[in-house]
Amino acid sequence: MSEFDLIRDYFTHVGSGRADVSMGVGDDCALLRVATGAELAVSIDTLVSGIHFLADCGPGALGHKCLAVGLSDLAAMGAEPAWATLALTVPRADEVWLTEFSRGFAHLAEAHGVDLVGGDTTRGSLTISVQVHGLVPRGEAVRRSGARIGDLVCVSGTLGDAGLALRRLSAGEPVSDYLRGRLERPTPRVALGSALRGFASAMIDVSDGLAADLGHILSTSDVGAEIRLADLPLSPEVSESLESGPDWALPLASGDDYELCFCIPERHREQILELQQRLDIRLTIVGRIMPGNGLRCPLENGSTRQLDASGYDHFSHEE
Ligand code: ADP
Ligand code: MG
Repeated sequence: MSEFDLIRDYFTHVGSGRADVSMGVGDDCALLRVATGAELAVSIDTLVSGIHFLADCGPGALGHKCLAVGLSDLAAMGAEPAWATLALTVPRADEVWLTEFSRGFAHLAEAHGVDLVGGDTTRGSLTISVQVHGLVPRGEAVRRSGARIGDLVCVSGTLGDAGLALRRLSAGEPVSDYLRGRLERPTPRVALGSALRGFASAMIDVSDGLAADLGHILSTSDVGAEIRLADLPLSPEVSESLESGPDWALPLASGDDYELCFCIPERHREQILELQQRLDIRLTIVGRIMPGNGLRCPLENGSTRQLDASGYDHFSHEE
C-alpha cells in the first residue's frame, strides 16, 4: 500500500464534516475558517510506544487516547474542539492496525464534532502526534494564572485510576475493565471545561497527577493551596488499594487521569452543584487557595504538611 492509498483509505473524511472546513485532507494545507470573535486554541501531544503507552496497547484504544489527551487540553482552557491534525509514524502499513486505530480516532472525533483535516504519514517506530485546534470566545479562555486567595479548588471525576491500572499492568497483574478503560480510553471533560468559562478563575487538566498540575496553577497564579487528603475523590478500587497502606502517590502523583482541576470563587459555589447535576459528572471540592505558595495538607493532629510537586515525599518518610 502506498502512502497515498493509506491516507485515502484511513484518514480521509474522519470526523463530523464541519461547515467551517474549506479544505481538509488532500492539499498542501488545510483551510479552516475561524469564527469572528473567536480565538484559536492550539495544543500538540506526542505518544511514543513504550514510553507513553505499553507496547501491547490495542490500536483502537490508541486512536482514542491520542485525540483524547489533546481534547483534554482544549477542555482545560474552556475551548470548543474543532479540528485536528495527525502525524503518524508506523513501522509498517498493517491494515488491521490502521482500521482499528482510525476507528478509535474517528469515534471520539465524531462525538466531539472534530474533523481530521490533515497530517503526515511516515515509516519508523510507532509514534503518534496529534495537534488539536479549538475555538474560544476572545478573551474568555480559562488560564492557569487566575487563581485568587479564597477560591475553592475542585476536581472532576476520580483520581489515581489510570495510575493503578498502569501499576498493575506493568507488574503483569490482572486489571479490571474499569481501570483499564480509565488508562486506555480516558474521557476528556470537554463539556465541563466550556461550561466553566466565566466561573472558573483558573483551570488545568490533570495529566501528571494533582500535586504537579495544581502546582502549576499555584506557581503561575503566585498563590498557595490547602487540600484535604480525606476529600480526594477516589473510585472504589483506588480506595480499596489505599486501605493496605496510605499510598498518596496514587491519587496525588500518578498520571493519565485527564480530569480537570479548577479554582472557582466562593460566590460561584452553587455552580458546582448545578454543573454536577446538569453534566452528570462528579465534582469534588478538595481544598482552597491560600496565601503563600505551594501545596499543603492539614493533618488530623492540627499541623499542616507541605507537599512537593511529586506529591508524596514527606508522607512516605514520616507517616
Ligand atoms: P505534503 O507532501 O504536501 O506534505 P502529504 O503527501 O504528506 O502532503 O499529505 C497529503 C495530504 O494528506 C495532506 O493534505 C496531508 O495533510 C494529508 N495527510 C497525510 N498524512 C495524514 C494522516 N496521517 N492523517 C490525516 N491526513 C494526512
Ligand atoms: Mg505539499
